Amino acid sequence: MTRMMTALAALAALNGAAPAMAQEMSDAARSTITELDGPKPPKIAAPADEAPSDATVLFGGDSLEAWESVEGGKAAWLVEDGIMRVNRGSGAIRTTQDFCDVQLHVEWRAPEETEGYDGQDRGNSGVFLQERYEVQVLDSYDNPTYANGQAGSIYKQHIPLVNASRPPGEWQSYDIIYTAPEFGSDDRVSEPARVTVMHNGIVVQNDVQIQGKTVWIGAPSYDEAHGCAPIMLQDHDADVAYRNIWVRDLS
Ligand code: MG
Repeated sequence: MTRMMTALAALAALNGAAPAMAQEMSDAARSTITELDGPKPPKIAAPADEAPSDATVLFGGDSLEAWESVEGGKAAWLVEDGIMRVNRGSGAIRTTQDFCDVQLHVEWRAPEETEGYDGQDRGNSGVFLQERYEVQVLDSYDNPTYANGQAGSIYKQHIPLVNASRPPGEWQSYDIIYTAPEFGSDDRVSEPARVTVMHNGIVVQNDVQIQGKTVWIGAPSYDEAHGCAPIMLQDHDADVAYRNIWVRDLS
C-alpha cells in the first residue's frame, strides 16, 4: 500500500509539476509508474481438498501429537479411521503450539444419532481461538436453540448470518480467519479480536469484533491480557468427530 501511494504521489507530481513532460510520455510508459515491482508473494501449493503447503497440519488423520489435554498430559481423544473423536469426559484438548493471527481450517461431524439429544446437548463442541474465544460447534440442522448459541455463532456474542448446517452425520467445515486482540501497557484491551467464519464455504461471521472471553453466564470481557495461545477443541459430552485440521500463521 505504501509503495502504491508513493507511486501515485509520483504520478500526481508528474501530472502537476511537469505536464508537458507527462504528455510527451507514451501511455505505456506512464502506465508503468503505478506498477509495483517489489518482492513477489511467496509461491505455495494449494491442492484441492488438502492442506496448503505453508500450513501446519494439526490433525492429518493418524496422530494427536500436535495436541495435549487441557487437564495435563497427552490428548486422550479417540483416533480411528482417519478421524479423531471427542472422548467424552476426558476434557478439552489444545494444540501444543501457540498461535496469534491465523487462518484455520477444521472439518467436523455431529453424531448421526440424535434421539434424546436436543438444543445445546446435540452435537455440541467448539473451536476455541487462543483458548478463550469460541466458534460454536453444534448440530443446528433441525435443532432449535438460542440464536447466538447455534452452529457458526461466536458463542453468546454473534448470531451467524445464515444457518448453513448439513444434516447430522455429514461432514461440515469451518474456515476461520482470526485476528488476535492487542493489549496496552496497562493490560487493557486496545484492539479487540476480530473473526471471519465460513461454514461449509458460506460466510456466517463477517469480520466481527469479539467482545471478550467466551462465558456461559454473564457478559464477556477481556479480563486478562494474553499473548499467543493454543487452539482448543471442546469436550461438551457429545461424540463430535474432527478431521483435516490445518492452520496458517498470519501474524
Ligand atoms: Mg460448544
